Amino acid sequence: MKTELWEKVSHFHGHKCPGLAIGYQAALLAKEVLEISEIIEDEDIVCLSETDACGVDAIQVVLKATLGTGSMQIHYLGKHAFNIYNRKNGKKARFVLCDPIQFPSKEEKLAYLLSKNPRDLFAIKETISDFPQKARIYDAIPCAICGEHTAQNALIFTNDKQVCKTCQNS
Ligand SMILES: [Zn+2]
Ligand SMILES: [Zn+2]
Repeated sequence: MKTELWEKVSHFHGHKCPGLAIGYQAALLAKEVLEISEIIEDEDIVCLSETDACGVDAIQVVLKATLGTGSMQIHYLGKHAFNIYNRKNGKKARFVLCDPIQFPSKEEKLAYLLSKNPRDLFAIKETISDFPQKARIYDAIPCAICGEHTAQNALIFTNDKQVCKTCQNS
């Protein structure tokens, strides 16, 4: 399966690898299961990813669930599992990669993953949490020590001063 979309995904990621194919197939399956429309607006789709590996990039491209919009959140649990939410219709599901078969080479694994119907690769389960919050915008105020403007939710209040995490730890 060599589609234009797969090419776009690998261009974004920088290389073609099994991990990317896992995210790509999960995203395609999510499109079908969560009835995601062809045209995706900013923040329609949110992903809570349980991995921080290559697959995350495919989801960012295919589902427009990006880190920069706050619609890609990493909750690292070390699993090939993606919780995907469709804000448009309220549908959500967790896509978990079924037992990973071992292959002698990465190339063979990649070819196998891309040749499969995504339905045969993942178990569809309940999400680990409800809809994540919409991206919030915080006011930035200067840290009392270094003076760098820092989003308020990242400042720590110590000795009556609001201090950034970098200064707090040094
Ligand atoms: Zn990769
Ligand atoms: Zn500081």
